[in-house]
Amino acid sequence: MLSIQSKITQTIAPNALQGKTILITGASDGIGRVVAKSYAKHGASVILHGRDYAKLQQVQQEITDTGAIKPIIMPLDLNSKNNQDYQKFSDDLAQQIQQLDGILHNAGILGERVDILDYSLDVWDSVMTVNVRSPLLLTQCLLPLLQRANNASVLFASSGVGRAVREQWGAYSLSKIAIEHLGQLLALENKNAHIRYNCINPGATRTAMRASAFPQEDPMTLTTAEQLLPTYLYLMSDESIAISGESFNAQ
Ligand code: NDP
Repeated sequence: MLSIQSKITQTIAPNALQGKTILITGASDGIGRVVAKSYAKHGASVILHGRDYAKLQQVQQEITDTGAIKPIIMPLDLNSKNNQDYQKFSDDLAQQIQQLDGILHNAGILGERVDILDYSLDVWDSVMTVNVRSPLLLTQCLLPLLQRANNASVLFASSGVGRAVREQWGAYSLSKIAIEHLGQLLALENKNAHIRYNCINPGATRTAMRASAFPQEDPMTLTTAEQLLPTYLYLMSDESIAISGESFNAQ
């Protein structure tokens, strides 16, 4: 587990992502929305994924208004278990881009905050689908596009409860433990030296998800998504080319 905050604040150039095409899942809100805007500001051509087209259009407009490259919008409900939806997503994307230099698997859902013996198995299925199954399936489908990049970074959003299981975090905690190990497994089995796989734990951050996990908490006491950006930028930029199979704390 690495914390690189002091190093990365020095190294991120304003054009650090120029020429790169990067997919951000869950770019309609929260951390994903802020990171997508920052990637675009640093020169990337961004692909905005989410399930709400109107929200994605708003992010697209905000990015375009800054003079950055107009993002592509790619809607897909990650709670779908239909593999064909993911193949169609990849095929549609391949019509529009030459190569994929990065994926930030950021979309996630919280599920229930109850004891595991009381946990709804329907909610379990959704959490495991959105948080684990879909990132793996998307990575499988998008591999041909990743292989066309000179250097590609695949980044999975983890969590503090993905490092060690925590009571009443149920399927969410287990899904984040799985994603940490999925990142390591992909790195271990990797046959493409120019593709790297890492995890990032944003830590407690002022978003809707955090508010629903801790409704009594004062959001103003929390770190903002903007404060996490150095680590998200570093791991998508060529500064991190040599790093694979690691897990980072953004705070
Ligand atoms: P938010 O709930 O604010 O945003 C989640 C994003 O995922 C939204 O864009 C949402 O879309 C999208 N999403 C959710 N379900 C689906 C689905 N079925 N299909 C497509 N898109 C979907 O979460 P955060 O920004 O707080 O979290 C981002 C990541 O960071 C998550 O993986 C989370 O687990 C992790 N994390 C967050 C922490 C925090 O304190 N905030 C702490 C540790 C980890 P829509 O706008 O339609 O809802």
